[in-house]
Amino acid sequence: MEASGEDCCVKVAVHIRPLIGDEKLQGCKDCVTVVSGKPQVQIGTHSFTFDHVYGSTGTPSSAMFEECVAPLVDGLFQGYNATVLAYGQTGSGKTYTMGTGFKDGCQTTGIIPLVMNVLFSKIETMKHQIEFQLHVSFIEILKEEVRDLLDPTFVSKPEAANGSAGKVTIPGKPPIQIRETSNGVITLAGSTEVSVTTLKEMAACLEQGSLSRATGSTNMNNQSSRSHAIFTITLEQMRKFNPASPGDGPNESMNEEYLCAKLHLVDLAGSERAKRTGSDGLRFKEGVHINRGLLALGNVISALGDEKKRREGVHVPYRDSKLTRLLQDSLGGNSRTVMIACISPADINAEETLNTLKYANRAR
Ligand code: ADP
Ligand code: MG
Repeated sequence: MEASGEDCCVKVAVHIRPLIGDEKLQGCKDCVTVVSGKPQVQIGTHSFTFDHVYGSTGTPSSAMFEECVAPLVDGLFQGYNATVLAYGQTGSGKTYTMGTGFKDGCQTTGIIPLVMNVLFSKIETMKHQIEFQLHVSFIEILKEEVRDLLDPTFVSKPEAANGSAGKVTIPGKPPIQIRETSNGVITLAGSTEVSVTTLKEMAACLEQGSLSRATGSTNMNNQSSRSHAIFTITLEQMRKFNPASPGDGPNESMNEEYLCAKLHLVDLAGSERAKRTGSDGLRFKEGVHINRGLLALGNVISALGDEKKRREGVHVPYRDSKLTRLLQDSLGGNSRTVMIACISPADINAEETLNTLKYANRAR
């Protein structure tokens, strides 16, 4: 593992999706070039180097899980918290990349389903020595409010004529609060934590929450999400050593080890500026709030990634948004973070693609 005790590990990968139907129909040209054999992307006169580049003519995206995410799952078993973030404009492939989308009731591809598979196959090989407990939560942050996507009392509002489908919570439920324990562990008070024992149960949580996720129509993508969706897997381990076997120590009470770590899998809100959604005042306000989370995230990751700043103990602005506050104990410190910047190769998206690459570049 490259991350030692105090080493903070923020890796940045770029995922370039292919041109999609709509872009092809509009006659879009591919304006993103991957420098052969290097994790380097060029757009216009700009050139950026990242830890990894996938898709288009770079490394195939099937390698992304192995290189970027599998080490974080391994770390979870060693007690390290981790965060995977998908960043990018609406339509750039965040939901596709994370696997938080359901089409016609069936799961497409994505990182979260792959994480689940690896997690359960690892548990299967170790379950005789170690007692495992798994919990899942799935929330979204919309307009700086935390909403529970696994809340059984959360009921669907039928799609209205103006396309504003949504969710309402039964009145009287207290809002979900982000709290910090005395030893720095962040908890979500009032959100559903589902205890799962099988892959099927965990997949059901992903499906339920994905379907509950608030979506709204903008003129960019009518399935676009203006919220940050955070799927969190908590792994608890109780290792029991056999006191009878030599070398394990004489005292049984010393032969138990408890580890707890969590993995946040985050499908961030669209990074495009509010003005580009061209909608009403309400939508604009949402845009402003979305930017607050993304702005704070950029500042936090950039503070963490800057070795000099870290040595000088520069303030990391976790408290500037709900998103960064919630992820506080899983960004920086001993935890590992991977940001996947999702981009479209189409020339019509060049301006936003450049913004995404600049944001991701700052995170390195
Ligand atoms: P976002 O969540 O960023 O708004 P989506 O994940 O919904 O974007 O992707 C937008 C569209 O592009 C969808 O139709 C999706 O199926 C398609 N798409 C995204 N990434 C890929 C990919 N790597 N390969 C093929 N199609 C993709
Ligand atoms: Mg999406």
